[in-house]
Amino acid sequence: MKKRDGTTAIVIGASMAGLMTARVLSEHVDRVTILERDRLPHDPAPRKGVPQGRHAHILLATGQRLLDGWFPGITDELVRDGAVPVNTKDMLWYQGGGYLVRADLGFITMSMSRPLLEHTVRKRLLLQRPNVSVTDETPVDGLIVEDGRVVGVRVDSVEHRADLVVGCTGRHTRFFDQLATVGFPTPEVSAIRIDMAYGTRVVRRRPDDFDGTVALVADDPTRSHRMGTIVPVEGDRWIVTVASYHGDVPPTEPAGYADFSRSLPSPVLADVLARAEALAPVLTHRMPTSKRRNVDRLKRTPPGFLVLGDAICSFNPIYGQGMSSAALQAEALGQAIERHGPTSATLARAFYQRAATVVGVPWRIAAGADFADPRTSGPKPAGTDLINRYFNKVWQACHTSLPVARQLTLVQNLLVRPESLMTPAMVVRVLLAARRSPAAGPRRRRDRGQAAV
Ligand SMILES: Cc1cc2nc3c(=O)[nH]c(=O)nc-3n(C[C@H](O)[C@H](O)[C@H](O)COP(=O)(O)OP(=O)(O)OC[C@H]3O[C@@H](n4cnc5c(N)ncnc54)[C@H](O)[C@@H]3O)c2cc1C
Repeated sequence: MKKRDGTTAIVIGASMAGLMTARVLSEHVDRVTILERDRLPHDPAPRKGVPQGRHAHILLATGQRLLDGWFPGITDELVRDGAVPVNTKDMLWYQGGGYLVRADLGFITMSMSRPLLEHTVRKRLLLQRPNVSVTDETPVDGLIVEDGRVVGVRVDSVEHRADLVVGCTGRHTRFFDQLATVGFPTPEVSAIRIDMAYGTRVVRRRPDDFDGTVALVADDPTRSHRMGTIVPVEGDRWIVTVASYHGDVPPTEPAGYADFSRSLPSPVLADVLARAEALAPVLTHRMPTSKRRNVDRLKRTPPGFLVLGDAICSFNPIYGQGMSSAALQAEALGQAIERHGPTSATLARAFYQRAATVVGVPWRIAAGADFADPRTSGPKPAGTDLINRYFNKVWQACHTSLPVARQLTLVQNLLVRPESLMTPAMVVRVLLAARRSPAAGPRRRRDRGQAAV
């Protein structure tokens, strides 16, 4: 237990990054106050400041592992409130021209609506950490900077002072603009243009709607690059999300939405939509770029302040990485504080270095996959085209090889590094298994045909 020394922290934003940050900080400072602009609902419900909360949210195994550690009992509570446990053997996954082999990989993830997850994490945080409080309807206007150090925040001209301020205000964070006006450099931004559009529909769920608990379907990125997912959530509902890139926006009227779903290479989503009772109109969400602020390259950053979560890296959401990346960043913040202390002038820099490492892996996975679409533009990580050619083989190998499908699932869940799919033994396994894929024959014939033209 930490010795009481009167240290205080303010976390701005009570979404997933803010809540997990507060949990970590509560072990290192005496008092943590979360300031949130929105009025927070008493029940699990969507809210204005988190518009993405109405769309399907997948919690990767890494994020779940960290939440389980910070909030013992949270999984049981989520299940009691209607979250659906998903075994990997119940995932129907179509990618690379075929279905992945299915097997129990020894871990279960939870499927629920984003509002239920956030609500439960907030409830547990306030219950389990008495030194944390949340004040809602409190929009932070700016930081208070004195002698080059951030010493608090301003809300409606009222000052709230703290030893450490953490900005968890998401992708559109404005604090760096304010810091620039007092002479601090702004981080260079890497933006990958994807012009992604989501279309989401909530429908009534029956457990026998299809042979599985979750389905993911992705078309070839060099063809339509359309994709979709169907996830079970509390209240016997499915959230169906379809998505595409570069201006191919899913229609919102029901017939057009059904046609879009039918155009996917597996009929699973369209078949469920055709039978199930619709519970809400189709909602859309657009995201022009995957965006990463390279905070680790900042030459100077004020002591007493750092940002975390989507404010550092806002990924193409289709890979389900945002909340788990925020969890990994919060864990990294705890490690940096253990080493440097919560009030140290070197904390932000030390944290940003660690955050760059934990964000780097999901960023490379997402950016690499985004560049498989030839219309994608932006800073392409070195070696991406070569890796993408290899990953075409990995997807095909997953149609027949359990060890490859298992390794890929571990990588996608951020449990092991992508390099584990590139060891010499794995490469041999991938290349041999890919030849057995039902997708390999026609494709090879077609490729030869194209080459001959
Ligand atoms: C369409 C879509 C689908 C997604 N799907 C997934 C998924 O399947 N899996 C996954 O892991 N991630 C997914 N994500 C990403 C995920 O939603 C975020 O990574 C996650 O919410 C963490 O973000 P955050 O807490 O950093 O910021 P946000 O969630 O954006 O929250 C920012 C918070 O700050 C508050 N705020 C803003 N300004 C102020 C201010 N001045 N003062 C006080 N409060 C303020 C806001 O009200 C809000 O509560 C998806 C994102 C999108 C857009």
